Amino acid sequence: MDLYSGHINKLIEELAALPGIGSKSAQRLAFHLINMPGDKVRRLTETITAAKENVRYCRECFTLTDQELCPVCASQKRNHKTIMVVENTRDLAAYEKTGKYEGVYHVLHGAISPMLGIGPGDIRLKELMARLQGDVEEVIIATNSSLEGETTAMYIAKLIKPTGIKVTRIASGVPVGGDLEYIDEVTLLRALEGRVEL
Ligand code: ZN
Repeated sequence: MDLYSGHINKLIEELAALPGIGSKSAQRLAFHLINMPGDKVRRLTETITAAKENVRYCRECFTLTDQELCPVCASQKRNHKTIMVVENTRDLAAYEKTGKYEGVYHVLHGAISPMLGIGPGDIRLKELMARLQGDVEEVIIATNSSLEGETTAMYIAKLIKPTGIKVTRIASGVPVGGDLEYIDEVTLLRALEGRVEL
């Protein structure tokens, strides 16, 4: 028996399809939205649509940005010869928050995972290799210390080695399987400073 109206069911279904939202949370959110004033709901939907339409990938590093070039890539103050490779935009934000990293980034948008069927062609690796044709002195691999992150780090190191460009890996000390964004700034800086050449 259908307890709710078709519209509510559809809303619950859409919300439940979002990551980290179970069916209970989806129901709670759906009823919250229904009870919200109409103008607030409109503002929310407009914000979502505007974000979707205006956010794009940076031409250089592939992070998410409103501009053709993200603020880091556009900055003359950054050292464009050092590229830190991260799995996603949230990890980039975590390093930016430390305010101590002066290089630029490359965002892979994922990690190699044979178990999930994600191969080297499914992340922004080709784009990284293309950037290395330019004037690059060091690539710092800051993928997570999960199995996928380590697999990706080893794969990238092997690809870059023949080019003669220095390849380093952030020090362990970043908890295994830990998402970089949840790690405090001191730990991140220590991992960066203690990076080792691969
Ligand atoms: Zn960029």
